[in-house]
Amino acid sequence: MHSKFNKIKSLLLELKKIESISSLLSWDQETLMPENGGDIRAKEIAYLSSLAHQKHVSNEFKRELEKFVNINNGEFVTNEFTNNEKRFLNRVWIDFHYENSLPQEFVETFSELVSKSQMKWSKAKKQNDFSIFKPFLTKIVDMKKKEADYYGYSTNRYDALLEQFEPGITTEKLDIFFGELRPRLIKLIKKIKNSSVKIEKINGKFDEDKQWKFGLKIIEEMGFDLKSGRQDKSMHPFTISFHPSDVRLTTRIQEDNFLTSLFASIHEAGHGIYEQGLLQVNFGGPYGQACSYGIHESQSRLWENQIGRSKIFWSKYLPILKEYFPQLESYNLDKFYKAINVVEPSLNRVEADEVTYSLHIMLRYEIEKMLINEGLQVEELPRIWNEKMKEYFDIIPGSDANGVLQDVHWSMGAIGYFPSYAMGNFYSAQFFKKANEEIIDFDKKIMEGDLLPIKRWLNENIHKYGRKYLPNELIKKVVGNKMSVKPFIEYLENKYGKIYQL
Ligand SMILES: [Zn+2]
Repeated sequence: MHSKFNKIKSLLLELKKIESISSLLSWDQETLMPENGGDIRAKEIAYLSSLAHQKHVSNEFKRELEKFVNINNGEFVTNEFTNNEKRFLNRVWIDFHYENSLPQEFVETFSELVSKSQMKWSKAKKQNDFSIFKPFLTKIVDMKKKEADYYGYSTNRYDALLEQFEPGITTEKLDIFFGELRPRLIKLIKKIKNSSVKIEKINGKFDEDKQWKFGLKIIEEMGFDLKSGRQDKSMHPFTISFHPSDVRLTTRIQEDNFLTSLFASIHEAGHGIYEQGLLQVNFGGPYGQACSYGIHESQSRLWENQIGRSKIFWSKYLPILKEYFPQLESYNLDKFYKAINVVEPSLNRVEADEVTYSLHIMLRYEIEKMLINEGLQVEELPRIWNEKMKEYFDIIPGSDANGVLQDVHWSMGAIGYFPSYAMGNFYSAQFFKKANEEIIDFDKKIMEGDLLPIKRWLNENIHKYGRKYLPNELIKKVVGNKMSVKPFIEYLENKYGKIYQL
C-alpha cells in the first residue's frame, strides 16, 4: 500500500517478529520441550508478550498513528483518505486500541498465569482432579471479566470477549443462530436414533507409521506445502504459523483409532493452507492475518467434513488407503463412507460427529455466558457441565477428565473462542456451496483426487484478503448473501437423511 504508511508498517512488522518468536516457543512447548522446562518457558513467553505490548503502546507508535487517526476514538484526522486507506487504518487502530486498553502489569500477569494454567490443566486432566485446575481457572475468569471491562461493551460483558475472536458476532446474534439450529438438530438426532440403519464403526489396530505416511500424503494432495510447513505430533492437534513460509501442524496418532489422526491432519492442514495462503507482502500488517477465528475454522471444517467425509473423496482414496491397511479389504465405498459418518451422542467434542458437534459448542457457550455475565462460580463448573451433558446428550461423563476438563481453551484464557467453531461450521457450508457452483466439474475433480482447484479457489476468494474484510463482509463478498445457518442445516439434513434413510 501507500508509502505514507511505511513507518507504521515497519513498526507493526517488528511486533510481528516478536509474536512469531513467541509462537515458536509455544510450538516447542507443545511438541518437544522436556517436562521441567515449563517454568522458565512461561517466563520467556511472558517476557516476549510484555515486550510486544510495550512496543505496541509506545510513544513512538502512538506518535505515528496519531498522524492518521485520533488514537482515543479511532476517528480519521482528515476526510481525504480513500476507502481502502480508511479500512487499513481502522484495522491498525482497533489492534492498538485493544492493546492500549490493557495495563502493562495486567498483560504480564495474565501471560504468566495462562502459561502455568495450561500445565496445571494438563496435570488435572491426567489425574482426573478438577481441584488442581480450579484456583487457576478462577483467576483466569476474574481476569477475563476485567479484560472485558477494559475493552468496554455496550450490552453485555461476554460480547467484548467474543469480539476478540469473531468481530461483529454478539450474544444476540449467536442466540438467533443457535435458536434456529437447536430444534432442527435435535429433531435430526432423534430421527437418526430411531432409524433402522445401524452403522458399525471401524475397529482394530492400525500401524502408527503407516497412519503418519497416509496422513502426510493426503495433506500434500490438498495443497499443504511441506517446504513451507511441517507436521509433528502433540497431545492436542493444532496449527501455528510464524510466517506463510513456515506453518506448523500437529496431529495425534492412536493405534486403535486411525480416523482421529487422519481427520486431525486434514483439519489442521485446512488451517495451514489458509496460513500459507496469506500474502507474504502483507506480513506484519493486518491484511497478513486471517480474517477471524470462525473464518479460520471454516477452512479446516470444509476440508475435514465437506470434502474429507464425503463419498466422492473416498472413491479416489479408499483403494489407496487399503494399500496401507489391507485389513480394510472388506469395506466397499458405501460401507466405509457410512462408517466414517456415524452419528452418536458422545462425551468428547473433538471426536464428535458433524451432527452432534454444534451441541457441544452450545453447551460451552451457555456456560461461558454464565461465568462472565451471570457470576457462576468456577467450583460449580463440574456440576453444571454434567447437568448440561445430561440435558443435551442424555449422558453424564464418568469423570471430569472426560467432562469439564476435556478442552484446553479455558486454561489458555480463550473464553469466547468456542462459538467461533460453530460459526466455522456455518461459514464452511456457505463457502462449500459456492465453491461447488463456481468450480467446473467440482465432484468429478474430487473423485479424481484433483484437489488443487479447491485450494486455489479458497486462496483466491478467502485467503489472499487476510483481515481486509470483516467476517460478515467476506461472506457477503464470497457467497453474495448474509451469514446464515441454513446451508449448514440443509447440508446435514441432506447428507444424513441419505445415510440413515430418514
Ligand atoms: Zn480448527
